[in-house]
Formats: sequence, structure tokens, C-alpha cells
Amino acid sequence: MQNRAAVNGKATVEVLRARSTEMLDDLRACVEIETPSRDKARCDAFVPFFTELATRYGGRCERIANRDGGDHLVVRWGKSGEAPVLFLGHYDTVWPAGTLARKPFTVTDGVARGPGVFDMKAGLVQALWAARLVHANGSAAPPITFVVNSDEEIGSVTSRAMIEDEARKARAVFVFEPSFHGAVKTARKGVGIYTVEVEGRAAHAGSEPENGINAIDELARATLAIHALGNPKAGTSIYVDVVSGGTVRNTIAAHARGEIDMRAATNAEAKRIDDALHALRPHHPEAKLTITGGLNRPPMERSPKIADLYARAKAIAMQLGFALEEASVGGGSDGNFAAAVGAGVLDGIGAVGEGAHAEHEHVHVGAMAERTALVIDLVRSLAAG
Ligand SMILES: [Zn+2]
Repeated sequence: MQNRAAVNGKATVEVLRARSTEMLDDLRACVEIETPSRDKARCDAFVPFFTELATRYGGRCERIANRDGGDHLVVRWGKSGEAPVLFLGHYDTVWPAGTLARKPFTVTDGVARGPGVFDMKAGLVQALWAARLVHANGSAAPPITFVVNSDEEIGSVTSRAMIEDEARKARAVFVFEPSFHGAVKTARKGVGIYTVEVEGRAAHAGSEPENGINAIDELARATLAIHALGNPKAGTSIYVDVVSGGTVRNTIAAHARGEIDMRAATNAEAKRIDDALHALRPHHPEAKLTITGGLNRPPMERSPKIADLYARAKAIAMQLGFALEEASVGGGSDGNFAAAVGAGVLDGIGAVGEGAHAEHEHVHVGAMAERTALVIDLVRSLAAG
């Protein structure tokens, strides 16, 4: 059985290699429609294009209207009724419109470049091809649901509920985000976004400073207290990264504000921070200190389900002839939402390359075939029993 699986898997890699020109054509088409998260018109133009492609590849598409951004898309393969394998991918990118003119899609020496190519349009193409091949010729493999959302780069506010819903029903979740130097991501930190607001009291800085309450003094003290909450050993970092306050130099500052970024590796740490932030009190009894915000994405901890999926993927990769490492990373993704509802998640199963959100963003074209074959065998291995 092992041997036959290995032979089949390697044959799949060869099939995909032979069709790499078609995969690259799809990648080019995906990259050449620019999709900045906050540009509804451009994002909405991507949806019919991707619908046509996914339909051609045997998927049943459902467009999910979204008033606050680009529409989302759900594509299904295989019979309904059985728990599906969930694929997650986002089609928005961090690149503003016009980036393509400056940095067009190119393939040179096996390296593809273009806005969003690594994060994560190559992942979208790999997911499509995996689903297409798994379900070619009416296969008995588990059904696949592919959620393609428009707002991952800005927090998935409008797609989160849909992702959680689909993740609850899924037998496993594969997130086609870029890999970490080829490694899949089996743990991700949670991300908290908070604001600290201080209200003091204005007074003339020369004639009656004693009647004022300096909000900047309060914010400075609060900032030190907030930074002291970090715990590098536990993987928790918390910083005030933006500050503003005051009105004019000769008036005691009545108002100050700080924006806080928090990262935590465990839910326990995220809760400790949240409790501590809400317990902060001003130094001056008449000052007012308000904390707003919370966890944007909960931590994705390496659960037994995640460890099991990784072991499975590692074994399949070995049969295909490559080593699949795992990594834990500080950034969040929609995998965090899926893991938080109890699903087994393998994140970063998408493209191999480098430079997400960076000028040197690129994808190694040669890895697309083996990464896609890996997913195909993974889905097949998850058949009932
Ligand atoms: Zn991404």
C-alpha cells in the first residue's frame, strides 16, 4: 500500500510538472487582476474570473455578497452530505492598484514575480489544481469546500463567521497561505489590537499648571506598565506603537492616545494580557484611562489534531521525495479562526518562495507541482476510515 501510494503520488507530481505551463497561465491571470483589500470594484472583478476558472475545473461556485468589501466565493467539489476538507485562501493582496504596472508578472529562471504572487495567488492556483485533480472522474475522495475571501489582509472582519462555520463542519482545514521557507505552519500567535485613551485636564502651563492633569504623563506611565506585561519566554510581546496627544505647547495636555499591538502564543497568555490591560488604573485619581479593542485573531496552538495532520503531511512529503518541516510564526491568518473552533489545521501549505508583503516577493515555480501533489494525497488520505 505504502509503495503504491508513493508511486501514485510521484506520478501526480509528474502529471502536474507536465502541465506547469497551464498552472503558470492561471497564476499569471490571477496576478494580473489587482485586488487591494479595500478596493471593492477591483476585488469584485476578480470574482467572476475565478468563478469561471473554478467552474471549468469542476467546482460549484457560490458568490457571497459583501457590502463592505469585495464579494467572497465558496467553491465545492464532490458529493454533499459528507464532512468536507476545507481549503482556505484569500484573493486580496496588500499591494495598491498600479503596482502591477511597476512590477508586472514575470517568470525568470523558475521564479515568478508580481504583486501578491506569493501571498497568496500561487496558493489559490495550487488549491484549485489540487481540488480539480482529486475530483477528476467522479472520485470517492472526501468533498472539498474552498473558501476564497476578500479581506484576510485587513482582519477578515466580513468573512470570519463564514470561515468559522465551514471549519466546524470540516474534517480538516488546509490554509493555502505561503509556506515559511517551505515549512508548513503548525502554530501561529494570536494578534491583539488595543487602544489606550487618557483624559486629563487642560490648564495654562504657565499660570496654573497645578490645576491641570497631564494626559501624556499618564500615557507614559501606562505605556511602561503595558510594556512590562510582555513575556518573551512565553512568546508574548506587547507594545504601544503609535502615540498622539496634547494640543499646544503651553497647555497641559488634556488628552493622549496610544495604539497597542499584542502577540501571544497561547490563549492563556492572551487572556492574562486582556485582563491586565482592563485592570490598568490611572496614576492621578482624577484622570480617566480607557482601554478598547481585543483579540483580532486568537492564537493557533499546536493541538493534537494539528500535530496529527502535520505527521501525515510529513510522511506523504517523504514519499514524494521532499522533507516537509514545520514552523511556528508570529503572524496571524484565517487558520487562527479555524483552529479556534476546534478544527485540525495545516497552515502555510501554499507556495514556496519569499517576501510576503515585501518588494522581493517571489515564488519558486518548480515547487508548485510537488506542493499540489502533497495536498492531493493528503485529501485522499483523509477518506473515511
Ligand atoms: Zn496571506
